[in-house]
Amino acid sequence: MSTTILLFRQDLRLHDHPALTAAAQRGDVLPVFIYDEQVAGEWGFGGASQWWLHESLTSLSASIESLGGHLLLRRGSTVETLIELQASTQADAIYFSRQYQPWSAGLEASINAEFTERNVEVKRYPGTLLHEPGSVLTGSGTSFKVFTPFWRAANKLTVAMPVSLPDVSWVVTAASTDALVDWQLQPSAQDHMPDWADGWSALWKPGEDGAKEALDAFLEAPVAHYSEGRDLPAKRYTSRLSPHLKFGEISPRQVWAAAQQRKLSAPQWSSAIDKFLAEIGWREFCYQLIDLFDEMPNTPFKDQFAAFPWDNSEAQLKAWQKGQTGYPIVDAGMRELWQTGFMHNRVRMIVASFLTKHLLVHWVEGERWFWDCLLDADIASNACSWQWVAGSGADAAPYFRIFNPIAQGQKFDPEGDYVRRWCPELAELPKKFIHAPWEAPALTLASAGVELGTNYPTPIVDHKTARQGALDAYEVIKKAS
Ligand SMILES: Cc1cc2nc3c(=O)[nH]c(=O)nc-3n(C[C@H](O)[C@H](O)[C@H](O)COP(=O)(O)OP(=O)(O)OC[C@H]3O[C@@H](n4cnc5c(N)ncnc54)[C@H](O)[C@@H]3O)c2cc1C
Repeated sequence: MSTTILLFRQDLRLHDHPALTAAAQRGDVLPVFIYDEQVAGEWGFGGASQWWLHESLTSLSASIESLGGHLLLRRGSTVETLIELQASTQADAIYFSRQYQPWSAGLEASINAEFTERNVEVKRYPGTLLHEPGSVLTGSGTSFKVFTPFWRAANKLTVAMPVSLPDVSWVVTAASTDALVDWQLQPSAQDHMPDWADGWSALWKPGEDGAKEALDAFLEAPVAHYSEGRDLPAKRYTSRLSPHLKFGEISPRQVWAAAQQRKLSAPQWSSAIDKFLAEIGWREFCYQLIDLFDEMPNTPFKDQFAAFPWDNSEAQLKAWQKGQTGYPIVDAGMRELWQTGFMHNRVRMIVASFLTKHLLVHWVEGERWFWDCLLDADIASNACSWQWVAGSGADAAPYFRIFNPIAQGQKFDPEGDYVRRWCPELAELPKKFIHAPWEAPALTLASAGVELGTNYPTPIVDHKTARQGALDAYEVIKKAS
């Protein structure tokens, strides 16, 4: 009987898992997850992602146990661990889902080289994207660098239907397994560490069941409001699927198939559902860009931005990270991020623009902070989005489009509910002043209990001056290009 090692990666699910299905068809399956802290270098899992990983592995382990198997957990080098496991189990194949982080191709090539030599079959399968990078191409066979034509071309391709959970004959081996808690992925498992994730279990349900519940709940009703509502951070009109997709607890094909079904049962919502699917398209687009340019997490896509005159003030970066800039919508977003591991997309754009343009801090600093704090921290979407906002990306917003944090707040949080929630010290301010407290008369501030400079900061930069500073900085590289 053949035995296949099924290496789980960021595909922590059992349904629509082509590698698992192929392994099950071949014979016995030994499921393994290896926590390899070295492979990604500086882009190893950030703090929030580690929290999610722990929860997601707990859920996957329980699902496999309930089917009679046992997920083997190991910490260390992926290749060395696989060598040891293959030798001890005499497995004759290793299957896994293909991944597209800049370090993944090298890892996959090493596994392939190591085991081909030992006559062990190595195969990788799709399952992370709707379309493999390189399959959505222009008429002349090149990659798209602009989203709209990319997505138009992608929509002409067929999306394969999800595959269902196979019947698996699991191998239960005597090989040793780690106790997940020993990896200390969660702050509560670490001595002297404040539990910054306290309460997250009430907000999120990591794992395959949680992913399905999030998708079902979203398609049940909120999707109807998606087209306009997706920009309102005080409302719950987006899917919150991003951490589930990042860890592969649900596949984009499953999302796609469920959305198409919903269009049939609620045809009046079709255009909102297509808008939602276009955002899944952005995820695809980010992956095809990083496949094209694997230095995207650290290097500007547009060369001219390499010479951008950043200011990089440490004090201003800290104020931004802590949600103490004096601009309520920015501070609310940064506090939502710290307290929940998530930030609404509209606010991500506002805070990213503020950091890179108002404060002239390099986008990589923001990218790193997001990497550590976001539950959905994803190498392609994060890098692509930061470069989009900063102006250096492939299909970036024009540089001169500098978000005005006051106007953005007034437009997308008109009642101030989002700011009131995350900046409670401003909760009593009337909505007229909620996005610009410094404009409120002294009496209004006093009756709302706001003491600018004491319990809420005065703005760390003046909007108009900072905007002009950003445009002047851009002139430097505009001339150089
Ligand atoms: C500066 C910045 C950094 C970001 N970093 C990340 C990141 O690390 N990981 C991440 O998943 N998203 C990132 N995004 C994109 C976006 O903010 C999140 O995907 C979205 O807010 C997740 O919420 P949701 O699941 O409710 O999204 P929905 O609106 O319900 O969208 C559905 C799915 O589409 C994908 N998606 C939506 N918008 C985008 C987008 N602009 N780019 C790529 N994919 C998108 C996500 O997988 C999301 O779950 C970033 C955006 C900005 C502006």
